[in-house]
Amino acid sequence: MSKVALITGAGRGIGKQIALTLSKEGYNIVLNFRTLSDDIKKLKKEIESNNVEVLLAEGDVSNFDDCKRFVDDAIAKFGKIDVLVNNAGITKDMLIARMKEEDFIHVLDVNLVGTFNVTKNVVTYMMKAREGRIINISSVVGISGNAGQANYSASKAGIIGFTKSLAKELSSRNILVNAIAPGFIESDMTNVLKDELKEEITKNIPLKRVGKPEDVANVVKFLVSSDSSYITGQVINVDGGMLM
Ligand code: NAP
Repeated sequence: MSKVALITGAGRGIGKQIALTLSKEGYNIVLNFRTLSDDIKKLKKEIESNNVEVLLAEGDVSNFDDCKRFVDDAIAKFGKIDVLVNNAGITKDMLIARMKEEDFIHVLDVNLVGTFNVTKNVVTYMMKAREGRIINISSVVGISGNAGQANYSASKAGIIGFTKSLAKELSSRNILVNAIAPGFIESDMTNVLKDELKEEITKNIPLKRVGKPEDVANVVKFLVSSDSSYITGQVINVDGGMLM
């Protein structure tokens, strides 16, 4: 029976690449996104061309009821979820002096509470199955902090604490929980930055290039494979050596 992976925020960027990479490994994909579009329908077809099934799971991860609905739909269709990748995330950057309360709360709601909302619903089934892999997408700034990203960094640091706690709680059920901390990866999230800033950041990356979504997706592929069955509670930086 094919394995099943649920990926949040999988319509574009890193999440899309994770969905494509896992489908090439034979995973049926539960593809979460916020709003159905032609791009999402095209992506569904592209994934299906790898001879796997796709369930479109519309919903906002910051809404607990949405998450419960699409997790239940996934169980109704596939009977199980073997892998959960909590990838959905947003930024609302601003220095603290000018950061609005709603922008602090919104980023925490999507990035951290969203990770809880999906995990809480999925874990019920993984515990019954007595196996599972959960990969949470954090960020290097969750470890180092970053001026102008107090909200985002706090959410990503929170994801690391959440990951380690769940790794301890769920180890007896053979559920492995790890986090990936990407550095600077090409996507819509980073495309908004000015070219000069991107050049400055690249200069400080030992490998002298920004990352690609594939760089993150390949580590997810490893973390869901049997090759990583003795790894849990870890944060793996995928950052070209940016943070060490
Ligand atoms: P992106 O291109 O902006 O994609 C973000 C994805 O998250 C989109 O698919 C978006 O859906 C989805 N999303 C946002 N809010 C959501 C919500 N409430 N419910 C469901 N889905 C939601 O960003 P990315 O670079 O691929 O980032 C993916 C993850 O990697 C994020 O957690 C990000 O923090 C993390 N990360 C990225 C970098 C980087 O350099 N790019 C570095 C470190 C960590 P819509 O299309 O509906 O907006």
